[in-house]
Amino acid sequence: MPPQPGPVSPLLPPLYGSLAYQAEVRSVVAELITHLQPSVAQRVQGIPVSFESDPNDVNAFAGCDDSGTPFMATTEGFLSAVDAMAQTRATDEVFGTQTYEAYMAYVVPRLINDKGSPALPPGIIAPQHWPDLRRFSRAHQLADEIIAFTLGHELAHHYLGHTGCANGQAMGGGPSPATLGNLFARVIPAFNQPNELGADNAGVMNVLATGRARQATSYRWTERGGIMLLDFFGRLERAAGSSPLSPMTFLRTHPNPAFRIPLVQATAQAWRSQNPG
Ligand SMILES: [Zn+2]
Repeated sequence: MPPQPGPVSPLLPPLYGSLAYQAEVRSVVAELITHLQPSVAQRVQGIPVSFESDPNDVNAFAGCDDSGTPFMATTEGFLSAVDAMAQTRATDEVFGTQTYEAYMAYVVPRLINDKGSPALPPGIIAPQHWPDLRRFSRAHQLADEIIAFTLGHELAHHYLGHTGCANGQAMGGGPSPATLGNLFARVIPAFNQPNELGADNAGVMNVLATGRARQATSYRWTERGGIMLLDFFGRLERAAGSSPLSPMTFLRTHPNPAFRIPLVQATAQAWRSQNPG
């Protein structure tokens, strides 16, 4: 079991809207980089994160732009899904509700039939629960943990050499949303199981080291963000079936979540036994 979060103060402000989430992603990535070994960090220092405008696809990826400069990207749909997972999970923790289950029951059929956005629909969280400050703060923590796992994995693809373009060069601003879709189709290598598992392993250790370093002053990140993300995709996988024709890009480009969850847990356990405290 991951360590439970201790009492946290002060309360974190609500994360609301795409721009707030984009800023949060960039700040989480910067924090993750500061807890890599210096020679590793140097390869990805200042790496830009771009946001693809697709509101319905839930995806994150690492790639190289036309000039061979590394970047990472998430879709707007990913940010909406993180928000929905974090809002519902936080509500359930604070109020003992079942809003995550209600959200998944609503969203899984929509996503696998390619018929809509993963954004949290009105009505899942009761109006009297919505404005609770503890709920907002907890949702902010959980969103950060999901983002840390996801981008920690994509960052690892770069510093482990899987993309081949992260060599410590000066970084640009990253591709524009308009060009990202084309880049995604072209630069993302075919699904590669050893690379995926390697990125999970390195990414989780990076998240745990960052979580350990930040526990004195703020919420300690654990592998929990990974478990939350993989639960979300695991439900989609079970509903859609595992197929190269899956409507979900994420499921076509990453291993089955059912295999990734035990790996994430084992990596975290090994890390904690090697880094007691
Ligand atoms: Zn990957």
